[in-house]
Amino acid sequence: MTVPPRGEPAAAQPPLPAPVWDDAAGLVDDRAGGGLDGGLDGGLDGDTVADVVVVGAGAAGLWAAYYLLEADPALDVVVLEQARAATGGSARGLGSCSARLAVSAEDVARTHGPAAARSLRAAMRDAVVEVGGVAAAEEIDCNFTYTGAVTVARTLPQLARMRSRTSGAGAWGDEEHLLAPDAVAEHVGTPGVLGGSWTPDSAQLDPARLLRGLADVLVARGVRLVEGTRVVRVSPGAVVTEHGTVRTRVVVRAPGAWTPAVAPADHTVAAAAVDLLATEPLTGAARRDVGLARGQGLADAAHDRVEVRPTADGRLVVALPARRTRARTGTLAADDVERLRRRLVDVLPGAAGTRVTHAWRAPLAVTRDGMPRVGLDRDTGLGWAVGFGRDGLAAANVAGRTLADLVTGSVTELSRLPWVEHGAGRTRLPARPTALALATHVGRVADALEARTGRESRVPGRARW
Ligand SMILES: Cc1cc2nc3c(=O)[nH]c(=O)nc-3n(C[C@H](O)[C@H](O)[C@H](O)COP(=O)(O)OP(=O)(O)OC[C@H]3O[C@@H](n4cnc5c(N)ncnc54)[C@H](O)[C@@H]3O)c2cc1C
Repeated sequence: MTVPPRGEPAAAQPPLPAPVWDDAAGLVDDRAGGGLDGGLDGGLDGDTVADVVVVGAGAAGLWAAYYLLEADPALDVVVLEQARAATGGSARGLGSCSARLAVSAEDVARTHGPAAARSLRAAMRDAVVEVGGVAAAEEIDCNFTYTGAVTVARTLPQLARMRSRTSGAGAWGDEEHLLAPDAVAEHVGTPGVLGGSWTPDSAQLDPARLLRGLADVLVARGVRLVEGTRVVRVSPGAVVTEHGTVRTRVVVRAPGAWTPAVAPADHTVAAAAVDLLATEPLTGAARRDVGLARGQGLADAAHDRVEVRPTADGRLVVALPARRTRARTGTLAADDVERLRRRLVDVLPGAAGTRVTHAWRAPLAVTRDGMPRVGLDRDTGLGWAVGFGRDGLAAANVAGRTLADLVTGSVTELSRLPWVEHGAGRTRLPARPTALALATHVGRVADALEARTGRESRVPGRARW
């Protein structure tokens, strides 16, 4: 399948294989058969006991287990995973590891104060360094490269919002520079750019290889990683699975987009979906036209934000929020692939003519205000790390370290972060899937109005993820 030039429709094609990261991480073989070396891939073998049980072997669960063992290597940690480790939303993403969060520093300052906002921003920037540092220290070959990221503004309202954001970034310790159109052109071959912004706090990696490597490290350190075992009920002191019950003092729930199934009474987290495609590795001419030679990330400043990341082998991966949220995983229909291709060629006409080799949809968990939920109720021993939205790899790392501090009773900068809930949680506003879909749609309408009128849309609200 080839990316047609702008404006040209694509011929109907069969669904494309998914996701691009699976081959490199060995996940294709895994789905057909064996799990991790040393992992308990046959499912839980009856009842057992553990010091800590982690529900979900995605980024949040694996980071939590990793830092729990760093804090206390003697802890007996069981990670329960319904499928294979590193096959959830976090292993199927775009491949960026950035300090971005869906909730703005200004909003955090409004609700928790400026000092709390500065701490959260600092933790997010540190997390990008930390992820790369752990990958290097643990010799996880995931192509982690510090690349930075550029955002392009192509309408006047987008430029106005970008100016306001970049001028305020320094107050939170963030490095985000406004770029004139000629400076944007040094990064990327996007046409019709009115301005841009640049941040160094963004890296590129192969998410499946990172998480797979992390899972291998955990198993080698004695964590019981139990794959193919769905948790059906969590209560204080016990986690019930389809294959037996684990009795424990502490449960860390990190089931990502499956949170509504694991905690049906908790309406603060909703599941959403993102569509992605990957192209073949770019040829020399297309590479030159597209730019992004150092692997920088690219996003536009639209409400319906398109993101593009080059991979280590020169492909482009493109991500957009899914239009329909009923099917949250799997391959894409032809019209969804076409929608992604149009947006790719719109921001990077140099990619026209490049073959699309992969297209897939992946699930993620979002909160109403864009702030992830991280916490531990010491009375019940129930903890959680969910709702990381579209930029979760670094945030899940902060959450994992925070949970290790909370579980071991350490009072640290992390345990005081504004997103940490120390009680039973659930004080946050509910996140409803229909409201989420509506907000995403409204964002698209606002983009169209702003492009047509050149004025900021008064259409209120947009999805924060
Ligand atoms: C398409 C897409 C692109 C993204 N791109 C990026 C990106 O480029 N950069 C970035 O930083 N973030 C990205 N993200 C966001 C990021 O991946 C997530 O926000 C975050 O990492 C979520 O991690 P998680 O551990 O909470 O969830 P997941 O990775 O989904 O992990 C949850 C795990 O829990 C398991 N589970 C669920 N229910 C049960 C149960 N009952 N019993 C046992 N196990 C269970 C699941 O099988 C899964 O393995 C992207 C997300 C998506 C969907």
